[in-house]
Amino acid sequence: MIFTQSSKLRDVCYEIRGPVPAEAARMEAEGHKIIKLNIGNPAPFGFEAPDEILVDMIRSLPTAQGYSDSKGLVSARRAVAQYYQTKGMPGMELDDIYLGNGVSELIQMTCQALVDDGDEVLVPAPDYPLWTASIALAGGRAVHYRCDEEQQWWPDVSDLADKVTERTKAIVVINPNNPTGAVYPEHVLREIVEVARKHGLMILADEIYDKILYDDAVHHHIAKLAPDLLTITFDGLSKAYRVAGFRAGWMALYGPKDHATSFIEGLDVLSNMRLCPNVPAQHVVATALGGHQSIHELLLPGGRLKEQRDVAYEGLSAIDGVDVVKAQGALYMFPRVDREMYRIDDDEQFAFELLRSKKLLVTQGTGFNYPTPDHFRLVTLPPVDLLEDAVDRIADHLASIRR
Ligand code: PLP
Repeated sequence: MIFTQSSKLRDVCYEIRGPVPAEAARMEAEGHKIIKLNIGNPAPFGFEAPDEILVDMIRSLPTAQGYSDSKGLVSARRAVAQYYQTKGMPGMELDDIYLGNGVSELIQMTCQALVDDGDEVLVPAPDYPLWTASIALAGGRAVHYRCDEEQQWWPDVSDLADKVTERTKAIVVINPNNPTGAVYPEHVLREIVEVARKHGLMILADEIYDKILYDDAVHHHIAKLAPDLLTITFDGLSKAYRVAGFRAGWMALYGPKDHATSFIEGLDVLSNMRLCPNVPAQHVVATALGGHQSIHELLLPGGRLKEQRDVAYEGLSAIDGVDVVKAQGALYMFPRVDREMYRIDDDEQFAFELLRSKKLLVTQGTGFNYPTPDHFRLVTLPPVDLLEDAVDRIADHLASIRR
């Protein structure tokens, strides 16, 4: 028998760990030193978890050997519910919270529970591609709404509204955004809520970067703006608490649920089927959410993350024919390269060439379901000297393909 992958995987792709990174791994195995700016993984760039998280994790190990409840430990779910209560969602309850092995698992569970063959979900372009992949795996279709580079990458809400059909079930909002670094103002979120309200859609709010904000940016939880709609908010410890490897995330259901009991039963079945999320990591959710938030120091003037964001922005903007919107949040920038100035027909090819000639790994814009091949995503986690080196390599490579 020949084993081919199942037809369910036909439209599923995840380029952040796709063929270009596979080529980088092959080159590394041959002894090349590659600067890898393709994954938002804080630890390899020297970002350490807050001490109390590590201490509590170690302390919890003797008592964390068994399975927990499928939805997660009460202590962790209580901490998450209370977190949202203090953020203006007083009705958030223990039962509304599901813990997961990272937000990734919960995104996939939600799509599996919600999406039927042929259903549509509105997803931003560019997106964090796990959303599009998970909708496709569930048999549905991600319909991409435009985010407007001229408007600081905010969603074009009229484009979003035009794309609602009878098959649309939900709107995905990624704020702060990966890959653009945009942070959406309240009025844009309210306009999105209005579209969801008009058509009775669920809102899926990926807010994993809600604490990673630069300058004067303010994050608004969209669930708080839509108490009359069912919203699921996703967040976790991977980014702001620098423990992506612990695989700790959560989702919080907010708003009316009477019309969604069957969907919620579906979530419960899927939650039961995965038995439970990683238990030691659940023990530190309350530790993380309470008390001092050390991520803030990294974001203030003089803080490492802010400095790196500034260096990446200034370096990229200084390259002829490269335009970039300054990130207001998250850990990325999504520059545009002028294709009239540079020979780029296929952005995956561009990423391959940058890797082979300059030993620099970035992710091509089409990997984020962006429609034109003229963007790439850069991770702003490396220290300043490495970022400067990376920007120089990009400038050198572009100079070699100038028309
Ligand atoms: N959502 C967004 C927007 C992300 O950028 C990421 C990771 O990069 C995730 C979700 C998944 O995070 P995790 O599974 O580590 O919680």
